[in-house]
Amino acid sequence: MPLALLVGPANAGKVASLLDRYLAALDRDPFLVVPNRGEIERIERDLLRREPALLGGTIGTFDDLAERVVRRAANGSARPVLSRIQRAYVLSRVVATTALDGLAASAKFGGFAGALGDAVAELAGALIEPAEVGGELGRLYGAYREELDRLGLWDADAMRGRAADLAAGELSAWDGSPVFLYGFEDLTGAQWGLLEALSGRAEVCASLPYEPGRAAFEAVERTARDLAELAGPRIDELAAQGWYESPTLAQLERALFTDTDAEPLSDDGAVRFLEAAGTRAALELVGAEILELLRSGLAAEEIAVIVPSVESRRATLDTAFGSLGVPFAVEGSVRVARTPFGRALLGLLRFAFARGSRGDLYAFLRSSYAGLARSRVDMAEGRLRGRAVRAPERVEAETVRLLGHPIGMLDELRTAPGVIEGIRALAAGMLRAAWGLDRPPVGEAAGLDLLAEEAVRRALDEVEAWAALGGDASPEIVVQVIEQLTVPTRARDRGRVVVLDPTRARTRRFQVVFVLGLEEGVLPRRAVEPPFLPEGRRRELEQSGAPGARLVRADSLARDRYLFYTACTRAWRRLYLVREAATDDGRPLQPSPFWDEVVSRFSRPDVLRFTRRRALSALSWELHLAPTDHERARSIAALASSDERQARALASAGGFGRRLERALGAFSRETKLLSPAVLQGLRETGRFSATELERFVDCSSMWFVERLLDPKTIDPKVDARLRGIVAHQTLRSFYAGLPKRFGTDSIDPARLDEAVEFIHECLREAIAGQVRLELPEVDVLELEGALGRDLELFLRAEVELGLPLVPRRFEVSFGTSRSAPELQRGLELEGFTVSGKIDRVDVDLFSASAVVQDYKSGEAFSARKIASERRLQMPLYVLALRDLLGLEPLGGLYRSLSGEREARGMVRAGARESVPGLHARDYMEEEAFWDQVDEAVGLAGAAVGRIRSGDVRHDPRFGSCPTWCESWPICRVRRP
Ligand code: SF4
Repeated sequence: MPLALLVGPANAGKVASLLDRYLAALDRDPFLVVPNRGEIERIERDLLRREPALLGGTIGTFDDLAERVVRRAANGSARPVLSRIQRAYVLSRVVATTALDGLAASAKFGGFAGALGDAVAELAGALIEPAEVGGELGRLYGAYREELDRLGLWDADAMRGRAADLAAGELSAWDGSPVFLYGFEDLTGAQWGLLEALSGRAEVCASLPYEPGRAAFEAVERTARDLAELAGPRIDELAAQGWYESPTLAQLERALFTDTDAEPLSDDGAVRFLEAAGTRAALELVGAEILELLRSGLAAEEIAVIVPSVESRRATLDTAFGSLGVPFAVEGSVRVARTPFGRALLGLLRFAFARGSRGDLYAFLRSSYAGLARSRVDMAEGRLRGRAVRAPERVEAETVRLLGHPIGMLDELRTAPGVIEGIRALAAGMLRAAWGLDRPPVGEAAGLDLLAEEAVRRALDEVEAWAALGGDASPEIVVQVIEQLTVPTRARDRGRVVVLDPTRARTRRFQVVFVLGLEEGVLPRRAVEPPFLPEGRRRELEQSGAPGARLVRADSLARDRYLFYTACTRAWRRLYLVREAATDDGRPLQPSPFWDEVVSRFSRPDVLRFTRRRALSALSWELHLAPTDHERARSIAALASSDERQARALASAGGFGRRLERALGAFSRETKLLSPAVLQGLRETGRFSATELERFVDCSSMWFVERLLDPKTIDPKVDARLRGIVAHQTLRSFYAGLPKRFGTDSIDPARLDEAVEFIHECLREAIAGQVRLELPEVDVLELEGALGRDLELFLRAEVELGLPLVPRRFEVSFGTSRSAPELQRGLELEGFTVSGKIDRVDVDLFSASAVVQDYKSGEAFSARKIASERRLQMPLYVLALRDLLGLEPLGGLYRSLSGEREARGMVRAGARESVPGLHARDYMEEEAFWDQVDEAVGLAGAAVGRIRSGDVRHDPRFGSCPTWCESWPICRVRRP
């Protein structure tokens, strides 16, 4: 009985005719083969609409058909079929145990077994035996087959091949039920063999989109030819039907990929073009169009967005459609690891079994599946981050301490009788914690959780079955298996726009379709040769293989052309073609040839009339195009930069008045402190540190941010501040330890190398003293290396300078409760006291005089700069030396720890002999020296007056903000 074939262009009624025939054969228990599992549910709904009492018949995939044949005829010789996970295990074992030469290096990489699996599936599907393949691939393929035999299992390809053999040779393999199939443009050898065998013993009817001679169908040419041979005279060629609402769409279907010089089509608005710079901008443009369509009354499920790859666009889709409020559902599959449930589960599993990180544990703890209050978890994590606690043992111990109780699910996982039991109990516990036991979980989020949990449960069943066969079921392997899991997602709900890829779109129809990815390199895709079976090798193997071998694939350009044709013909009302004109960082992208193909069918004015664009610079929408209230408010704010009056009028008419005023005031914020409580606190403050007063003079906002707001970074890192702390500590230990180590107060030039050794020791101790911070080892090494070099060069510069003074006091604190009793009162000035810490005091042993030394990681200030830049600290320290420490000041020196390592500062001219070797201009005449000190006292008094009145402004020292100031996001000042 020859096969019946229905062919014709898209929307010629082929599938409808096939379904009619299927319904007419219901009393003979027909079998309808559909392209994928997702299609079963949809086609059942479709059939029920036509025939409400649908009794009899089976709908399934090709694998279901093969399984039915095998079940009927194998007489107990059928073997169990390997699951996908078990197959991955077998492949890994084969790769690990097969001796390889040329492929040995590649076999070490993770993707090798997966690529081998694809090649083996293609070879088995093409009915090519290992001996015909030869070489290393043949060896691996043969080893895989032997392993299956050893285990007494089949894989899906072996089962299909067996089904084809049985259908050809066993009478009992098929009972004569009619078979119908659609949605197959490419048949493997095994599928072809089964179809051929069945068509010899039952009515078989297939539908195929095909028109002879049209380039759009070049990819299905071979299938059409082979089916036609089998069908003989039983071919129904259906013509294009008047299915499209728009004549433009009907004409476009006829014109696509044809070589005619026909007149341009006239566009009635049914074909539209969207161009945007960047993926997100393109999706926002699509989202805005969708919102317009929805507002016009179109049902969301009548709109499809066809994207080249659902997986790669999912995150941007969530952001772009989510922010616009476009309801959508993705058809395809999602990795369990990307679902909220999977992320939390894998976080805990990695932490428990694979020395996971703090982030892994907290990915679980922060989720609703842990059953903990989010605020408590955030508090605990903040503390751990602040202290840079990273080692897993410490993370766990500290978390338990901060939470005040053990992490129950983690403990149960570890103490379960086995890893699989532990994970099963954990997954169930997580769902309970998130959704409770009062009522069944409902809604989209719950649905995804249930799907993910079910996928995990099934995977665990498979791992268990595999372990029973002697396979590895270690915790690491189980974690790897769950990481690879995917769950199918289907757009079941009405009221949602359907997002799907071109392959899944082939059998669907919608009123409006958006086709994305029409830029260079995306559609058509760049052809990539598969690693094991390049095109030439396929041809050789097919020619040398047994009759029926089918390994040569359609040309990838022809395949993409066919997919584009089907995508364009899914819409019966309106079609949007969407392309990215540039990447997110502004690199221009050429349009895809498919875009040009459609554009070339219309006149230029029509294309321009129905094109909408969004440039990279368009951070807000044009007001009349803004799709949501939020976007409208942003557009008005953008307008305010050029026409404030009109923006104010529009904002007040639209109810955005207050929001606009806030936006307009964003860069001219009131900076004066107004809070009575804060002002009172400041008025009552009697003590100010020299560094904070200097900071206030630098910029009063800088003082406000650093001293009052005092923001902290959460994750400690090796920054200038930490370097400064360690350097100061090192120098203090070094100079304080010199007498004991070398018997001298200063560095002996003859023992400089030993001194260098000593300072490195001090440095290591100073770094180890930062125990509160668990810095990564590489950061510690970098800190030790860089600071070690700086300090060594500093010692050399110190020896070269050769001051005859003796370093005697270090880190001399005054004006605080931690200062020595006689210094606690601080430096008393008019109406306030000053506190501070002098890094080092070098004294003249023959007189009660000394010089102040202050270490600087950056530039050392000269006497002139101390005056011109209104530096307060050094003059105030000089005064403290005299009034508090009772030493006659010779001057004050800044000692730079980097760069030229110069000693600069202000020194009394009369002290030239005690403090020799400085720049001539750093020696100041007596009067100028003390004037400088008086001026600093005056500046300090003025700063205190302003602080007490809350007079905070944006007033950087030289009128513009220095580039190193990091407070500008808080100040919200415009930066040059
Ligand atoms: S950003 Fe400018 S105004 Fe703000 S603190 Fe820094 S220097 Fe001052």
